[in-house]
Amino acid sequence: MGAKITLSADGTLNVPEVPSIPYVEGDGIGVDIWPAARLVLDAAAQKYGRSVDWVEVLAGEKAYTETGDWLPADTIQSFEEHLIGIKGPLTTPVGGGFRSLNVAIRQIMDLYVCLRPVRWFKGVPSPVKEPQLVNMVIFRENTEDIYAGLEVESETAEAKRLIELLHDAFGWEIRADAGVGIKPISKFGSHRLQRAALQHAVRQGRKRVHWVHKGNIMKFTEGAFRNWGYELVREEFSDVAVAWEDCGGDPGDKILVQDAIADIALQQVLTRPAEFEVIATMNLNGDYISDALAAQVGGIGIAPGANINYVTGHGVFEATHGTAPRYAGQDKVNPSSVLLSGALMYEHIGWQDCADDIINAVEATISDGVVTYDFARLMDDATEVKCSEFASAIVDRL
Ligand code: NAP
Repeated sequence: MGAKITLSADGTLNVPEVPSIPYVEGDGIGVDIWPAARLVLDAAAQKYGRSVDWVEVLAGEKAYTETGDWLPADTIQSFEEHLIGIKGPLTTPVGGGFRSLNVAIRQIMDLYVCLRPVRWFKGVPSPVKEPQLVNMVIFRENTEDIYAGLEVESETAEAKRLIELLHDAFGWEIRADAGVGIKPISKFGSHRLQRAALQHAVRQGRKRVHWVHKGNIMKFTEGAFRNWGYELVREEFSDVAVAWEDCGGDPGDKILVQDAIADIALQQVLTRPAEFEVIATMNLNGDYISDALAAQVGGIGIAPGANINYVTGHGVFEATHGTAPRYAGQDKVNPSSVLLSGALMYEHIGWQDCADDIINAVEATISDGVVTYDFARLMDDATEVKCSEFASAIVDRL
């Protein structure tokens, strides 16, 4: 029997000997990738005399079939009580009242950081010449920006009312047939994301943090994010970090914090990836940057992710791709995304040794040319294996 992970007064996690961790298998290829990932996660823990008490919770199609509810309250309650959970991909219900189940989980639990580490594994086919230079962690804000869902549909009564109101109050001219979205960026939301990014840089010994924004155009939202970021460095992190403009680019042994305009940043993460270590940005920029970066190092089949609230201690780790329904149940796809999210979860709960072993074993397996179809089609002389066989090959190399 396992026990729950709890949060101590100083904000660190208390992890019992056998933590209970709720999981959602996921829709579509969830039936393939979750058992494969679990095989490796269990084997890695066992090596150190540890184990996890996995607790299944329902969301998505399985939940709908069994309970009539796409996202049962019990599932959220379980994630909240256990603090840490993991999930496979979920179908976005059409007409189910949700924009997306993933977004719903993030919003209900106020998981304000979308954490996306991006690194290359030796042997992974890549469209760039030096993928080994890519080693970054992206902190994408999860609760604000134009993803917050504050939108009105073109030519509805709501849109007409909002357009009129904006005209009357601010003199703004918006075309009568426009749909309108609101982009809130708050100091509170910016600071808590930026604080998490800076704390991560300190913990991980990283030397550069970038605020990525489009503040040259959107001055009071994206530009404010930039300014609040520098304010935070000066107010809370001056002993360990310094803003570019306060040190002329020479930070000594402190972390150098600088900012980059989003369009240039997207170019530079491709052309000068070694200059980026930790990136903190708002929701939409973060969406583009994390997928563009994932493409450099093997695509979404291998990209891990997590949604975290560092204040309450809640974290839901997840596969970053979708349900790929046409491959469901074929034991074919790459389980690395959910597996590496599990490794990230182990790192988060302090099982760094297990996480390192998983990462090294994944790398060794791919370097040996043992890969699933998605990599095999891009590699010469690869041995294509099934999803479950790939997991067994990783376990052999743990
Ligand atoms: P998708 O499921 O991510 O699949 C798109 C393509 O990505 C697949 O056809 C496949 O490409 C590749 N792919 C995805 N996962 C892979 C894996 N594990 N291994 C190897 N290749 C993989 O995107 P979608 O088809 O647009 O979305 C399907 C459903 O998933 C929708 O209901 C969507 O709303 C939902 N979705 C959920 C999440 C989430 O839960 N986080 C995220 C995105 C989408 P090839 O066919 O070229 O091999």
